[in-house]
Amino acid sequence: AMLFLDLDRFKNINDSLGHHVGDALLQEVAKRLTNDMRLEDTVSRLGGDEFIMLLSDMGKEPSNAASQTQVKAEQVQRNLSKPYKVLGHDLHITPSIGVALFPSDDDPNEDSNDILRQADTAMYRAKDDGRDAIRFFLPSMQAAADQRLGIEKDLRFALDRQEMSLFFQPQVDREGRIVGAETLLRWLHPEKGYISPADFIPVAEATGLILPIGHWVLEMSCRQIKAWNDQGMPIGHLAVNVSPRQFRQPNFIREIHQIIKQTGADADQLGLELTEGMVIDNIGDTIEKMQALKIMGIELSIDDFGTGYSSLAYLKRLPLDIIKIDQSFVRDIQTDESDAAIVETIISMAHHLGLKVIAEGVETDFEYNFLNQRDCGGYQGYYFSRPVPEKEFTIMLKANKKLPIIEG
Ligand code: C2E
Ligand code: CA
Ligand code: CA
Repeated sequence: AMLFLDLDRFKNINDSLGHHVGDALLQEVAKRLTNDMRLEDTVSRLGGDEFIMLLSDMGKEPSNAASQTQVKAEQVQRNLSKPYKVLGHDLHITPSIGVALFPSDDDPNEDSNDILRQADTAMYRAKDDGRDAIRFFLPSMQAAADQRLGIEKDLRFALDRQEMSLFFQPQVDREGRIVGAETLLRWLHPEKGYISPADFIPVAEATGLILPIGHWVLEMSCRQIKAWNDQGMPIGHLAVNVSPRQFRQPNFIREIHQIIKQTGADADQLGLELTEGMVIDNIGDTIEKMQALKIMGIELSIDDFGTGYSSLAYLKRLPLDIIKIDQSFVRDIQTDESDAAIVETIISMAHHLGLKVIAEGVETDFEYNFLNQRDCGGYQGYYFSRPVPEKEFTIMLKANKKLPIIEG
């Protein structure tokens, strides 16, 4: 994505306070822009009060890329709009931001000048719409970004309106017996129907709404552990997804402590699923937190393993229990030799490190047999069961019969 930024009414500052103040403000703006960047991004000043940000890797799927970019642009907008203290003056300024996404399907031959022009055009639209705004060049991308804003608005009330619920997906052993489950969040929107967590978790993460939502998921999951215990059908463990922002909260450990105490759940039955990215971000803090959780008896897994960039050296240092092989590898076991090799390698590496393995997204007989032959201990996927509501899961748990495994 290319963001074209122009500061609103910057000329007023130059004219009224002098160019030296304007210059110092521009330097301050540049500082804030670079603070917002990831390593792979680029910021430059085009001239005057015009800046450009080049964001790479915003996602392959266009509408998803649009919403990711909207999130990023909002963050930039917020940061630039905070008060400035420049050469003794208290200043306030807002940006108008135009966005172009590339490469576009419409015109594969577009070059950097085309993209710059598109972002510039979109920026003028932001100015026309009253400044301090974000506009996309393509109407379809604007629609995707607007939809994201709609989700954000509704998400603020979703918990209070009791639109959220938990589904549970069994995790089974080699014989197909339920040994645990993963909690998966569901949002039933009053107009739009079910919205996938893949669509609203990133929004929740970007807006901070993940904190109350994540708290609720943890609390409800612990209550569920307790309820199954009370009904005489204890679950081996219930794994809850934790998002990066949640995990990075300084009081995260205390929060977990409190929830366990309040709900009367057994910490030994609670699991947390972390992702590679969040673990690596701040390795010192991460290890400390993971150790504290482990001492409480909580089982820790690395989710979507193989999709991040974590090195094996890190893995060795982390107090982990489980590695979850990402479903993208499992899906291609049959068709892609290198994915099959990766899966094999992950399993044997995990064994060497004394870790359990759960394969995600197991859908077919072939996948199950392949994994079974390589001594994968745990399985999760549609082959055994989809994520189901509490009632349905409780029935399965009660029977705790083997889930169907078709020999093949
Ligand atoms: P995930 O943690 O990797 O969860 C597994 C996803 O794969 C789930 O999608 C599940 O329904 C789906 N799945 C399970 N078995 C199969 C299979 O055999 N084939 C295929 N194709 N898919 C399968 P879901 O429920 O839509 O969740 C998507 C993602 O949203 C999750 O990915 C997780 O990252 C996030 N998420 C879900 N619930 C929560 C939550 O409570 N908190 C946080 N922070 N994130 C959550
Ligand atoms: Ca997960
Ligand atoms: Ca996963």
